[in-house]
Amino acid sequence: MATAPRTPFIAGNWKMNLDHLQAIAFVQKLAWTLKDKNHDFGDVEVAVFPPFTDLRSVQTLIEGDKLELKFGAQDLSQHDAGAYTGEISGAFLAALDSAYVIIGHSERRQYHGETDELVAAKVAAAHRHGIVPVICVGETAEDLEQHGPSAVPVAQLRTALEGAAAGREIVVAYEPVWAIGSGQAATSAQAQQVCEALRAVIAEVQGDEAAAATRVLYGGSVKAGNIAGFLKEPDVDGALVGGASLQLEEFASIVRFKSHVGTL
Ligand code: PEP
Repeated sequence: MATAPRTPFIAGNWKMNLDHLQAIAFVQKLAWTLKDKNHDFGDVEVAVFPPFTDLRSVQTLIEGDKLELKFGAQDLSQHDAGAYTGEISGAFLAALDSAYVIIGHSERRQYHGETDELVAAKVAAAHRHGIVPVICVGETAEDLEQHGPSAVPVAQLRTALEGAAAGREIVVAYEPVWAIGSGQAATSAQAQQVCEALRAVIAEVQGDEAAAATRVLYGGSVKAGNIAGFLKEPDVDGALVGGASLQLEEFASIVRFKSHVGTL
């Protein structure tokens, strides 16, 4: 499939780490580090995904200091308002100028029982509020053994896309569950194979133009030492980074993957 130019996207999923004071310090240092190294945010987009309680502080810092970093939330409710104790509405995230929201992360699927149908409802909620969903899909080690590499992520994405509004941006993150936090990343060829299959699903459901424009990320034990290999693949447009996104120098180095492509 012909590829349109897609701006690489490096996204840091902080999970349940860093309170709002730590978040302010981290974002400031990240912005200074990248500025120091003359990072071009138009060339590689960078976003952080802090816990909900940090979002206001991160927004105030980014907007107040006109930083080029983006930010997003790690989840949202499928509902817009009402008696849903503990839930966070997409309307609230939009009011904070949250550009993105992670939906269907494997930890939410595994520990909070999120189904493909719920993920689709959350994608719809994100689009209702003008937020770009970062839709996470990926197979477990058992899925891989039983169904091969693409079947489960492809099926998850197909259902998730039922919630997507026509013509609205999505980001897809292929995150094999066996690679998350394990230190055992997929090979770049494995990532390419599944990301290509996911792009084909987008083409089938939303058309070739949408497929060519949509960023498909790889996630799972991404580090400065392996990022360049993933980004050399034609269908991998960036990375969703967990653990390494909390290490300032490591994350900055991942963002600057173009500077170490030649070191592979
Ligand atoms: C993640 O949780 O989205 C993730 C990719 O984690 P890690 O980079 O730590 O494997």
